[in-house]
Amino acid sequence: MKVLILDGYVDEPTCLGVPPYVSTYVRYVAGALVDYGLKEKSIDYLTIDELREKLGLKPYIGNNYLEDFSKALNKSFVKNYDLLILISGLTVPGRYLGFTPLAYSELFAISHLKGPVKILGGPIRFGFAFKGGEFALNIEDLPFEFISLGDIEKDVLVALNLLKKQEFFKILKNFRTSEEIDKIAYKGSFILKKHFLYPNIICEIETYRGCERKNHCSFCTEKLYGKPQFRSIDGILKELESLKEVGVKYIRIGRQPNILGYLSLEEKNGFKKPNIEALEKIFKKAYDLKFQVRHIDNVNPGTIFHFQEESKKALKIISTYDTPGDVAAFGIESADEKVIKENNLKVYPEEALKAIEIVNEVGAFKEDKYGEYKLLPGLNFLVGLKGETRKTFKKNIKFLEEILKRDLLVRRVNIRQVMIFPGTKLFEENIKPKTKFQNEFKHFKYWVRNVFDKEMLKKVYEKGTIIKNAFVWEVKEGFSYVKPFGTYPITIKVPKVLPLYSYIDIFIVDYKERSVIGVPYPLDINKEDIRVLKYVFGENLAKKLILNRPFKNKEDVFKILGRKIFEEHIKV
Ligand code: SF4
Repeated sequence: MKVLILDGYVDEPTCLGVPPYVSTYVRYVAGALVDYGLKEKSIDYLTIDELREKLGLKPYIGNNYLEDFSKALNKSFVKNYDLLILISGLTVPGRYLGFTPLAYSELFAISHLKGPVKILGGPIRFGFAFKGGEFALNIEDLPFEFISLGDIEKDVLVALNLLKKQEFFKILKNFRTSEEIDKIAYKGSFILKKHFLYPNIICEIETYRGCERKNHCSFCTEKLYGKPQFRSIDGILKELESLKEVGVKYIRIGRQPNILGYLSLEEKNGFKKPNIEALEKIFKKAYDLKFQVRHIDNVNPGTIFHFQEESKKALKIISTYDTPGDVAAFGIESADEKVIKENNLKVYPEEALKAIEIVNEVGAFKEDKYGEYKLLPGLNFLVGLKGETRKTFKKNIKFLEEILKRDLLVRRVNIRQVMIFPGTKLFEENIKPKTKFQNEFKHFKYWVRNVFDKEMLKKVYEKGTIIKNAFVWEVKEGFSYVKPFGTYPITIKVPKVLPLYSYIDIFIVDYKERSVIGVPYPLDINKEDIRVLKYVFGENLAKKLILNRPFKNKEDVFKILGRKIFEEHIKV
């Protein structure tokens, strides 16, 4: 049997699977197939971007895209597979540099493909949605042979057993246990070698799923997973070892709603006490295995507020064993008390500020003079929640102003429009996803990007900060857009054409509009383009430097510049 796992990408509050991220779904499905008895070599893996390229298409270009995609697909190698497993689903809106998730037209065309038996699964089980401010579309009528409304890694095995008996039940809804995940997760690591970016990928690691809160936030799909199912420590360690064995360099322990909730202990005020010993075992192992990036994702600020001492200890462990540039992403969602109450959000503004202070206290340090901060909070805001008024946006701004006033560091602020999925409280209450206050929303976004971000970026990424191993993700109009691997990495605009998908060390020299400008580190004064030098020293000095090249020592460079600047960043 020849199987193709087609990755249409996933993005959920607790799992990212858009390149360079590889989601757990892909690895679990591959592991489940191997556990079922299939040979690794009979399982292929393609991303939707790779498929478009092989079909000679660019994403959604032209009015006839659906027709073009269908025609090309039906003539392609894809129809020769026995089984096609399509993994897809965006339940949070995002922007992805250089990669484009599966479009509805492509989903539609794939569902009609003749040849392989087709199974659809992943977070798309909650419906198809492409961006915020929308209701998800129902997928159950699409003509796939099987649609997984349960866990695709489990449903795929059920489907195989049904096929053996020549039976079809189109809708499958079987759920895996965390013990089953421990059994298949490590078996799926081989699939990563088939990723077109391998080894330049980052793997999302799951510790548990399902939210440990008793009453859930109104918008969140995590509660649909039921009570938390914790993976065993041994199961996670075994998976980490297998990832290391296949050559994975970067990991994010991000597939859980709250890393401080892993195997959490007794409850207080609806939040659970962090299990410091369990966290230490996981993070120490990742450190011992020498993954070059060891990052986290979601942290519940409510846990930090209600268990301050335990959270400090747990965060200390994380910031000891992780790598710089790590972000504890807080789902603050709103700073409006009314919205917080009506949507049962995690923290009130003062509580959120306390949690931000604690992460700063533990993680806002640098291991190297010009390095990145070790662990900073990130903030997520949601727009379109129940109870929102014009004042909500003012309160959000006031909250962020307070952060600036208290001189706290925040790595990034993410603003999203809510997406509404069946099963959530917002869906039941028939709340419209698009905010009524478009002008206020626009102003809030503008203020964050043009006032807050500008001030904060200068503090978090001071001029001279060196970003090692940044990767070139996009090159256009004479600029390269580079990002390091990691959680919420900063995008740096480099005024130079660099080879796509290459690594480069960069240092920050400026902030223009909404971009951070960086140049190659070390900066070779005798060889670098005038265009790059202009961004560092200004037009006049750059011209003078060019006219006086070659330099024998840095002192001569500083004579031209009239002062010592970036002394440790330049070379001659
Ligand atoms: S705390 Fe709220 S947002 Fe976070 S996982 Fe639980 S329900 Fe979802």
